[in-house]
Amino acid sequence: MPYVPVIGLEIHAQLKTLTKIFCGCRTDFGAQPNAQVCPVCLGLPGALPVLNRHAVDLAIRAAVALDCTVHETSIFARKNYFYPDLPKGYQISQYEQPLATGGRMRLASGAVIGITRIHMEEDAGKSLHHGFPDADRHTRIDLNRSGTPLIEIVSEPDLRSAADAADYFSRMREVLVAIGVNDGNMEEGSLRCDANVSVRRGPDAPFGTRTEVKNVNSFKYLEQAIAFEVTRQIEVLEAGGVIQQETRLFDNATGRTESMRGKEDAHDYRYFPEPDLPPLVVSQAWVDAARAAMPELPDARQARFMSAYGLSAYDANLLVQLIAGGADYFEETVKAGASAKSASNWILGELRRLLKDAGAEDMTAVPVPPDALAELAGLTDREVISSTVAKEVLSTMWTTGRRAGAIVDAQGLAQVGDTGALRSAVAQVLAENPDAVAQYRAGKTNAFGFLVGQAMKSMKGKANPKVINELLKRALGPE
Ligand code: ADP
Ligand code: MG
Ligand code: ZN
Repeated sequence: MPYVPVIGLEIHAQLKTLTKIFCGCRTDFGAQPNAQVCPVCLGLPGALPVLNRHAVDLAIRAAVALDCTVHETSIFARKNYFYPDLPKGYQISQYEQPLATGGRMRLASGAVIGITRIHMEEDAGKSLHHGFPDADRHTRIDLNRSGTPLIEIVSEPDLRSAADAADYFSRMREVLVAIGVNDGNMEEGSLRCDANVSVRRGPDAPFGTRTEVKNVNSFKYLEQAIAFEVTRQIEVLEAGGVIQQETRLFDNATGRTESMRGKEDAHDYRYFPEPDLPPLVVSQAWVDAARAAMPELPDARQARFMSAYGLSAYDANLLVQLIAGGADYFEETVKAGASAKSASNWILGELRRLLKDAGAEDMTAVPVPPDALAELAGLTDREVISSTVAKEVLSTMWTTGRRAGAIVDAQGLAQVGDTGALRSAVAQVLAENPDAVAQYRAGKTNAFGFLVGQAMKSMKGKANPKVINELLKRALGPE
């Protein structure tokens, strides 16, 4: 039996609040170190936490979007450990009674991944190792992030490949951003993930011992880290070894994971209920309000793109889930008058290619506004310009910001409708290519394509290929 991977993810998402979870300090990224702190988030003795209602609101929104059951009562608990960036000596989290349990997420592969739980917690501070004069001898602590509100979303060990894990993480980002819970900024650490990985012999064998790869902050690194870990574990087992349950770190420079520390068990944290906070009580009405205010989620939007616009599942998925901003751009292009079919063809074809050449991924980096693309699509659909010319017009639009109609007029790019001119171009091509004509007459059909190409070329792309096709067929006569 070959080995198969088993993966579960713990995703930490920063809630998009202005202020921290238990005090009024701001959560702005990039402030001067220790400029956004107070006795509560500094952990000074006697300072008391007060729960941020907006943070709870956002956590509920995430739970509803992910199909979880939100519990009427949840309990904050102290998770005790020592770390220099944790001034209180404990993190306030939720343990035995989390906010929500039992959700799900559907992947592109069709797999449905269970969500075990969503709980609320506070972030710790940050140790600084660079960027100050005596950094070679000292570490400094920045507590701005201490007390930043997070949710942790724990998946069931339902993922079966590195690619599915990356897809799950990216869909999670998509959903959390769509509902305004998280800003999706992975470089700034707003969204990060721990990957639990094990392997077993065949799909029905008991789970193997897992390792946990900490703090991965990109989809690509997540996929690489899991792939590396799966191969490493198989090699250890094949060599007769055993997997140590441990915490590992991914080094994105080498693509390897390295052991960081032995894995602690829950009892090592001496969890106990937080005596300074009452139980969190969430009414049914609060949950209902969150559900009523829910915007359209990516899965629903994809389904609507298929039924309302007649797009294929593949195209709808690309627009909604795989190209950031693609769905909005598409809908605005259609609203500006393009047909759904040509809007999606332009976006998924030429625009995506130009975007890639520009080294960008996000549709907001496209300098051509949707209504300008709609104008170009209209010129092509009405056969004012050929698709070859349209591609050139689009690159000109991209670099100059001019409109399609203006470019076509200024450069005289409209298709030649005058069949006289087309007829003489065809006659000339036939005269200049007797070999291709002979080949065509001998039954070589691709010689025809060549002749069409030559005729289009002599018209500088400004001919309607359909008309050229007909004229050529007629000129070559019935075989
Ligand atoms: P902890 O908080 O100590 O990391 P949890 O029980 O909360 O432990 O599990 C964390 C994650 O590990 C979950 O996402 C779960 O799906 C995953 N997991 C549990 N067992 C395995 C296993 N054998 N292989 C891979 N992942 C696992
Ligand atoms: Mg864990
Ligand atoms: Zn504070």
